[in-house]
Amino acid sequence: MREAAGYAPAVSERTKVLVIGGGFGGLFCARRLGRLDVDVTLLDRAACHVFQPLLYQCATGTLSIGQISRSLREELEQYRNVRALLGEAVDLDPDERVVTARRPDESMFTVDYDVLILAAGMQQSYFGKPEFAQFAPGMKTLDDALSIRRRLFCAFEIAETLPPGPERDSWLTFVVAGGGPTGVELAGQIREITTRALANQFHSIEPTEARVLLFDGGERVLAGFSPRLAVKATRTLEELGVELHMGVHVTDVLSDKVTVSPKDGGPDEHYAARTALWTAGVEAVPFARRFAEVLDVESDRAGRMAVEPDLSVPGHPEIFVIGDLVGRDRLPGVAENAMQGGMHAAACVRRDLEGKKRKPYRYRDLGSAAYISRGHALLEAGPIQLAGFLGWVGWGVIHIAFLTGVQNRVSTLATWLMTIARASRTDRTFLLGSPIPPEDPYTWPTEASAPRHAMPKAEDVAS
Ligand SMILES: Cc1cc2nc3c(=O)[nH]c(=O)nc-3n(C[C@H](O)[C@H](O)[C@H](O)COP(=O)(O)OP(=O)(O)OC[C@H]3O[C@@H](n4cnc5c(N)ncnc54)[C@H](O)[C@@H]3O)c2cc1C
Repeated sequence: MREAAGYAPAVSERTKVLVIGGGFGGLFCARRLGRLDVDVTLLDRAACHVFQPLLYQCATGTLSIGQISRSLREELEQYRNVRALLGEAVDLDPDERVVTARRPDESMFTVDYDVLILAAGMQQSYFGKPEFAQFAPGMKTLDDALSIRRRLFCAFEIAETLPPGPERDSWLTFVVAGGGPTGVELAGQIREITTRALANQFHSIEPTEARVLLFDGGERVLAGFSPRLAVKATRTLEELGVELHMGVHVTDVLSDKVTVSPKDGGPDEHYAARTALWTAGVEAVPFARRFAEVLDVESDRAGRMAVEPDLSVPGHPEIFVIGDLVGRDRLPGVAENAMQGGMHAAACVRRDLEGKKRKPYRYRDLGSAAYISRGHALLEAGPIQLAGFLGWVGWGVIHIAFLTGVQNRVSTLATWLMTIARASRTDRTFLLGSPIPPEDPYTWPTEASAPRHAMPKAEDVAS
């Protein structure tokens, strides 16, 4: 690492492996590399591993952010050859084999590599309408989950203070764009909150009357699951009170209104809603776009990259892409593909060190699961198709098994049991923001640059 004031890494002749991203792919890769005779740097813009499949439970007040995330430093402390660095990769020089990264205070540093593994994942896509994001947060990060939590619980609080009428109704109308697993999970959870946790806690409003509208362009929700399971999920959502609108695209989002357009033509429809949540699409994170440009890698519209069978970048056997950013063989954007890709890239590094030929990446599909509501989940693995209670138990076992950290597993299980027994949501706390803009908490004005809070000089003081 260069330009890092006060930090002098040990000089070593060992192969330097840089992994960008500590999500499912990067973390599993780093753990495997931790067993090899190499020096590993894991660079992440967030310094913690987030268990994205449970973000919606954090957004809807069941779990805390601490229960679904873990510090990468703590996660990797047992591997003495692996260091974790906080920084956002912003540029790459493949000739010098150097990555430039930005610290949270906006200053820059560089990290050298012999082998580079890109595992930076995807971000929410608004299909060319980034302005929707301010009114309809996505669901990819802990910040997103907390933003949704604030909007969700605040909406009920605001409605409680309003007289009956259209304004109050709009605060009690929740729109979810996208009928994939995340959209279905969110919609189901919001209705469950209204009918259980909040049902008897207000005096002026009836939370049970809150509307949850789910919009999707397809013919059915959960298109990735078998039609039989998707039909069961549809029935459960409808019983819960979620209003499903299929075959429509959300074409405009404002602070108080959502517009949808039928896919097959027909007039636009407008819905007065003060809370809109976006789960409709994903695209590569900005650094992945830069990476593809510098290395001249072919990408699809979402930014997934066309890599070689061993997941290396064409013409750069020392650079790998893993996880959601891989664009070959129709590999799915799921955690299992990222974890297997991470272990595969580490195996390629090991085989290179041993002078053996690399093997092509083979993805083993271990199935998928989606939570619908309390007592109802889908689980599909090969010929096994479970719905309802059995699916729910299977879903719970899988999620606990893959959650990072024993403490997180135990506390999540305990919280789930309490939630089932008491219908309560223990993590409803939300923050209303602070006077310091959260996006630049480290860049205080210096005396020279912005003497905002400087005391007036004696001669400036009016007598
Ligand atoms: C809400 C939600 C629910 C999901 N549910 C399921 C599920 O039930 N089952 C399932 O299999 N999959 C699920 N997925 C998909 C699964 O989480 C992803 O497929 C998986 O996380 C992809 O792993 P990855 O390593 O490619 O990227 P990620 O896990 O997204 O990790 C990317 C990492 O890179 C870091 N990063 C990004 N840009 C930079 C940069 N420039 N510099 C440094 N670091 C950077 C990020 O901070 C992050 O830590 C879900 C996803 C979401 C969002």
